[in-house]
Amino acid sequence: MFRRVAIIGGGAAAATLLSELLERKPSQPLHLDWYTGGGTLARGVAYGTASDRHLLNVRAASMSMFAGKPSGFLDFLQREDPTIAGTDFMPRRRYGDYLEAEVARALAQGKANGHDVNVIPFAVEAVVPERDAVTVMHGEESRLFDAAVLALGSLPTQPLSGVSAQALESGRYVVDPWALMANADKLPTPRKVVLIGLGLTAVDVLLELSARWPQTDFTAISRHGLLPEAHLNAAAAPTGDSGELIEAMRESPDVRHWLHLLREALAHERDWRAVLDSLRPHTPGLWRELDQEQRARFLRHARWAWERARHRMPPQVGRSIAALEGEGRLHRLRGRMKSVAVLGDNLQLQLASVPAGNPQTLDADLVIQTTGMNNDIRRTGHPLVGQLLTNGHVVSDPLGLGMQAMPDGRLARGEDYWSNLFAIGSMLRGTLWESTAMPEIRQQARSLADQLLAK
Ligand SMILES: Cc1cc2nc3c(=O)[nH]c(=O)nc-3n(C[C@H](O)[C@H](O)[C@H](O)COP(=O)(O)OP(=O)(O)OC[C@H]3O[C@@H](n4cnc5c(N)ncnc54)[C@H](O)[C@@H]3O)c2cc1C
Repeated sequence: MFRRVAIIGGGAAAATLLSELLERKPSQPLHLDWYTGGGTLARGVAYGTASDRHLLNVRAASMSMFAGKPSGFLDFLQREDPTIAGTDFMPRRRYGDYLEAEVARALAQGKANGHDVNVIPFAVEAVVPERDAVTVMHGEESRLFDAAVLALGSLPTQPLSGVSAQALESGRYVVDPWALMANADKLPTPRKVVLIGLGLTAVDVLLELSARWPQTDFTAISRHGLLPEAHLNAAAAPTGDSGELIEAMRESPDVRHWLHLLREALAHERDWRAVLDSLRPHTPGLWRELDQEQRARFLRHARWAWERARHRMPPQVGRSIAALEGEGRLHRLRGRMKSVAVLGDNLQLQLASVPAGNPQTLDADLVIQTTGMNNDIRRTGHPLVGQLLTNGHVVSDPLGLGMQAMPDGRLARGEDYWSNLFAIGSMLRGTLWESTAMPEIRQQARSLADQLLAK
């Protein structure tokens, strides 16, 4: 059992692991230092939004923090409003309230169970793992632990290549849409806004800024020009039996063959969502069957289709976005951003791969990068991740999907794995593929708590 543990990261994954640990009553009390990075406790980017336009993309019934208490979030909501249903898509702000309430409860419970917890509102700058101990450093402080867990979420977004230094300096090219949305009221209203990327981040930005800036026109570009799919009003009934499909996929781990099998399965099902959702618990196992070449093939050819079908918008969000298009305020374009440069008072985007007849350039008062998550530890300015990689304490996933790790979260050190340095959440994408949302994170938190406390 690891008695002294550092949990590094202040978001939902860290909060869930901490709460799991504090609920337990091991033979000896725990000493936990929780380094939160200094942001709002537990909420992170996802649940830190103050806007009620930003909804969860998972139904309330599936958003419990705890694998052992599946109705946790719904119970929390219904204590205040019994009319809320498990199929509802709630504001993410409410999920942040739930996380905060659960953390407060867990801290009190932990104290009652005799555990010693320090909440340290700073970012960790360096971690040095050794065979028997892990040193964690911030500022002048350096502390020794039996084990450390990285719960860093996704990495800060980097500007896309092709964006000129002048465009970045002008303040008209926005890399962090969340900071922009929080301050939108203080900015002059732009006439024309271009979004690069058309996933769920773009959807959040469109919902918020179209309401704050009612005179603004939006153009969104992406390789395929397609929005994420939407959930149905009623939850899709689980498909009868996906066992055969999964078996067939396992037998032949080849992306082209998998797509063929999926197309066949979808043809026999009334709602494709049911087939896709039935694969979700098996995705990490299936991902492990693919070799490096097949994974790269998946990322090149199928990732965009998977992401837009898997990460769906709530139905009411889909309707709002369709209304924006219907009013002529949102234009979607197929294409790839080649460059962004300053042109007079505006920015000008050069596009590539646009269909014949479409514009090759776009002018905008403001360009917002809405490309979503970054998990590539080789391309980040994150100081702790940089230190871990430079010192050879962690190894990048070869395809840029976080850190190399075992499915149980133990991080790779060259050919071998640390027994006392773990990750949870987005950094495990290369190992598990499906590793960013709460339904997966709560399972990881529970298993990791078991592992940390194992005799
Ligand atoms: C906009 C958005 C909407 C989402 N909606 C949903 C949804 O509806 N349902 C769902 O299940 N999932 C959703 N997700 C997925 C989401 O990633 C997870 O649900 C969850 O928020 C992940 O939590 P995390 O703790 O792993 O990461 P984060 O919330 O990103 O937290 C990472 C934390 O690490 C801290 N940190 C970073 N570096 C250091 C350091 N050196 N030292 C100390 N701390 C550090 C940061 O300050 C931050 O507090 C959404 C994600 C986003 C971005």
